[in-house]
Amino acid sequence: MDHDDIWAETSTDLKASLQQLSLTCRAMWELLSERTSIAQADLLAKVREIDLRDGVRDGRATAPPQECPKCSRMNAARAARCIYCATELPGAAPARPA
Ligand SMILES: [Zn+2]
Repeated sequence: MDHDDIWAETSTDLKASLQQLSLTCRAMWELLSERTSIAQADLLAKVREIDLRDGVRDGRATAPPQECPKCSRMNAARAARCIYCATELPGAAPARPA
């Protein structure tokens, strides 16, 4: 399988995943709006609120970088340890059980 084939297969997988996610979101929204008093304006306001949690209104929910409590340097949001001094970072996700 060459590079183009791998890319095409990955792209097809991503499209299928996106369509399934979109369908699930739509089903969840229809259930919520039918069974609660939540209005579409409430949903849109919540989307904007979550979008802004990382400080940027860009239509994405990205986690902000985290500052090392020991050396104060910035690390990726998912980093478990500081890449500069190896201190464990407080915002790191807990390790998965083996
Ligand atoms: Zn550090």
